[in-house]
Amino acid sequence: MTQTILKLRQTGEPVLRQPARPLGLDEIRSPEIQRLIVAMRDTLRDAPGVGLAAPQVGYGIQLAIIEDRAEYQQAIPPEQLTERGRVVLPFQVIVNPKLSIIDPTTRLFFEGCLSVAGFTALVPRAAKVRVEGLDEKGRVLLIEAEGWQARILQHEVDHLQGKLYLDSMLPRSFMTTANHARFWKDKPVCVVCAALGLLETLA
Ligand code: ZN
Repeated sequence: MTQTILKLRQTGEPVLRQPARPLGLDEIRSPEIQRLIVAMRDTLRDAPGVGLAAPQVGYGIQLAIIEDRAEYQQAIPPEQLTERGRVVLPFQVIVNPKLSIIDPTTRLFFEGCLSVAGFTALVPRAAKVRVEGLDEKGRVLLIEAEGWQARILQHEVDHLQGKLYLDSMLPRSFMTTANHARFWKDKPVCVVCAALGLLETLA
């Protein structure tokens, strides 16, 4: 089967900064949206990434997908997976999401975005969230999530509101993924914060 890999829009494209519009039930079930969902899934797996929102491929609609596959986690030390609360997540379509915070305790980790290619930064996120929305068939969807899933959901719902992680990151931690891998990847977040002069920001 031929795959459709969509062009990933980069920061600066207007569609990434505009609030996306909600989808109607008939629209969700339409062949156009069903095809877009498949193309977004193929694009996300090709990247690869763990989440993708429709504005990132040029569509200003409230549609996002998440998926965290076992193969993505193989190269990551188990203690890092545990620290991040990162577990395998099946492919999930989320339409018209409303996010509420269940536990506002801040979790701080490096985060990236396919629309800010080549960069990463420390981004504070709430520890636990609830997302209410619809799935790809227009059925009611309710997700309660913590750990990495909560982070992904906050990131994707932000996209649908015209926000990027750049808006909430700790600016001094913004760096290339190459430098992240070279200097910081295996260090605990508290050590990174101290070295980057971020402890006062956090206090
Ligand atoms: Zn993103």
